[in-house]
Amino acid sequence: MQGPLGRGPGPGLSPVDRRTLLIFTFILAVAWGQVNFTGDQVLRVLAKNEKQLSLLRDLEGLKPQKVDFWRGPARPSLPVDMRVPFSELHDVKAYLKSHGLTYSVMIKDIQVLLDEERDAMARSRRLERSTSSFSYSSYHTLEEIYSWIDNFVAEHSNLVSKIHIGNSFENRSILVLKFSTGGSNRRAVWIDTGIHSREWITHATGIWISKKIANTYGKDHVLKKILNAMDIFIEIVTNPDGFAFTHSMNRLWRKNKSSQHGIACIGVDLNRNWKIGFGGNGSNKNPCSETYRGPSPESEPEVAAIVGFITSHGNFKALISIHSYSQMVMYPYGHSLEPVPNHEELIQPAGSRWTGPMTVASSMPSASSSGTLDNMASCCQPHRSSPQPRRPGWRFGPS
Ligand SMILES: [Zn+2]
Repeated sequence: MQGPLGRGPGPGLSPVDRRTLLIFTFILAVAWGQVNFTGDQVLRVLAKNEKQLSLLRDLEGLKPQKVDFWRGPARPSLPVDMRVPFSELHDVKAYLKSHGLTYSVMIKDIQVLLDEERDAMARSRRLERSTSSFSYSSYHTLEEIYSWIDNFVAEHSNLVSKIHIGNSFENRSILVLKFSTGGSNRRAVWIDTGIHSREWITHATGIWISKKIANTYGKDHVLKKILNAMDIFIEIVTNPDGFAFTHSMNRLWRKNKSSQHGIACIGVDLNRNWKIGFGGNGSNKNPCSETYRGPSPESEPEVAAIVGFITSHGNFKALISIHSYSQMVMYPYGHSLEPVPNHEELIQPAGSRWTGPMTVASSMPSASSSGTLDNMASCCQPHRSSPQPRRPGWRFGPS
């Protein structure tokens, strides 16, 4: 549905009203100690053609700190979703209107949803205290997740162990769960969640997968077969500093919290800091950008810890990185459009095993409409990269 062009909270108020609301919002934010997103909207834009897509990309370039793409410009058939701060709504909507770009308001006021989320967490926390149980249908803080990890490992010590693979920029522990039935240096699968700290649903997914593995092992013959042949490693909080920050100050923080001397903006997009494809399309050299790649490959301790662990292990066969927000499967390799040697093998089971509202986003331009998680990030080396292919005109938003 197309929204009313040139209207909404920003354009509907006089400059004085807007200024008053902004001041009020600022006062509230200071009082609460958290960044407030009152009046921020998420707009869904449908570009009709490559030219309009290009105009959206220009918007990203013109205001790298002002427009936050949740689903970036990819192809005319795919919607573009972007968070626009209240203070920018008037200009951005005017820009869209002037270029004939149609849009709808998908989220009218982000803060309303964030308040609901916070209330739901508080209710769940009260219930957990009264029942001494961990809710798998609620979000949790870093401390709660790390406490859950300790309990989980103690409860399933025959199958699960905890490995400390390093420390974050702010010196928080980086933990990995190892699911193993024995053997030494077996072939291994890596799964990480939460490399982008605001993607809370992925941390919850990592916890749920872990619980599912522990509960299902011994009952499911496929899982038993897998775990008798290989180990599974899961890093639930891949960006602990950023995650802590999303709870304490800024719910929509995406990067880590590293800082550099003489640079005001903080944080590096950890998923742009890998060596492979470093600096390619989809990453940004501007430290204030949400997709800032960092000063050099693997400069960030959170990334270096993973690379060091996987490299020294030497026997990883698959790597899966779980993200939100969008529903697509991307498989080797995100930074390139070149097909991998086993492309046919990878794409073959896609149509037969997984159907639903999911887009396969492979390195091939002929993406189909279904896929299989089994094949996502199926690779033989610990290659990680930004998910944007380099070829202009076919790329993805931040993931
Ligand atoms: Zn992401």
